[in-house]
Amino acid sequence: MHRKLFIPGPTEVRDEILKEMAKPLIGHRSKDFSELFLSTVSKLKKVFYTENKIFISSSSGTGLMEATIRNCVSERCLNLICGHFGEEWYKIALSNGKNADCVRVEPGDGITPESVREKLDSGSYDAICLTHNETSTGVMNPIYEIAEVINRYEDVLFMVDSVSSLGGVKIEVDKLGIDVCLTSSQKCLAIPPGIAVCSVSERALERSKKVRNRGYYFDFQTFLKFYEKSQTISTPPISQIYALNKELDYILEEGLENRFNRHKTMAEYTRKWALEHFDMFPKERFWSNTLTVIKNTKGIKVDELNKKLAERNMQISNGYGELKEKTFRIAHMGDLQLEDMKELIMIINEILGL
Ligand code: PLP
Repeated sequence: MHRKLFIPGPTEVRDEILKEMAKPLIGHRSKDFSELFLSTVSKLKKVFYTENKIFISSSSGTGLMEATIRNCVSERCLNLICGHFGEEWYKIALSNGKNADCVRVEPGDGITPESVREKLDSGSYDAICLTHNETSTGVMNPIYEIAEVINRYEDVLFMVDSVSSLGGVKIEVDKLGIDVCLTSSQKCLAIPPGIAVCSVSERALERSKKVRNRGYYFDFQTFLKFYEKSQTISTPPISQIYALNKELDYILEEGLENRFNRHKTMAEYTRKWALEHFDMFPKERFWSNTLTVIKNTKGIKVDELNKKLAERNMQISNGYGELKEKTFRIAHMGDLQLEDMKELIMIINEILGL
């Protein structure tokens, strides 16, 4: 029996998309593949609000986090950390032998433009990494305000992990001056995991030419070479590209603004319930529209709740890492509808006797 996923990835996938993935394969050096590639990239450009090139990677989002570091950091980068995934990106920078500094805030807190300005004034950085939506704490950082600060500094590449937000929240890549914006397939884009995409600016491509030891698999110059032929470096997950291409049709048919509003409405509904019975974990300024992280003020056993939810074919998520018992997470991403949230909350109320 299918269990509806209210976890922050992988998210629910439509039956039509699963069927699309069962289509017979095509050769990845064929004309048919190039058409599929071009079609997918042109739709992605709309969702990213960009004219930049879009690379499709046969990896999950973490692969592209590594790619940004290897291609775009020459001397030193600044990592803005407000939870586990920001921490991971910092570790990726250090483990690739880069110099990296960070701004680190307490869990539940977010990155402020003021703290970014202060750090950029005090040090010299050539790239900056921001986790837009921190999935471990439910913090969504004020990307428009942060971008305004970063864009005042010349030659600082702006790299954004939008793994748990792009497709559910508006991120206007060109307007924000984002040099690399990366995301995974299994969150707001609502297709199965295993593929990741990113937009890459001309500035980032120029930088990458000069950075040494970019490796091979994640070298933006190799991506570019194949992009020009509407192909990928190696054999790509073709079935997933079928799925992405079709899901992008659904996304554009719904309309991006409608999609973002739907995410906002689902978030507001979930937050209202959370505030009525529990409390929100993140500070109000940073509440996310794709994921609600709830402070477990009643000390409920989330595992037990999930067992009961499983009997009703639903699943939510416990807190992340150290927050496992202190919080729980309800995602409202991708193709979930307000009706789904209402049903979930009704059943949780029933189970907990709220
Ligand atoms: N960044 C964020 C904010 C995430 O939520 C995740 C995964 O949950 C990742 C990065 C890593 O993405 P992936 O699992 O696709 O490698």
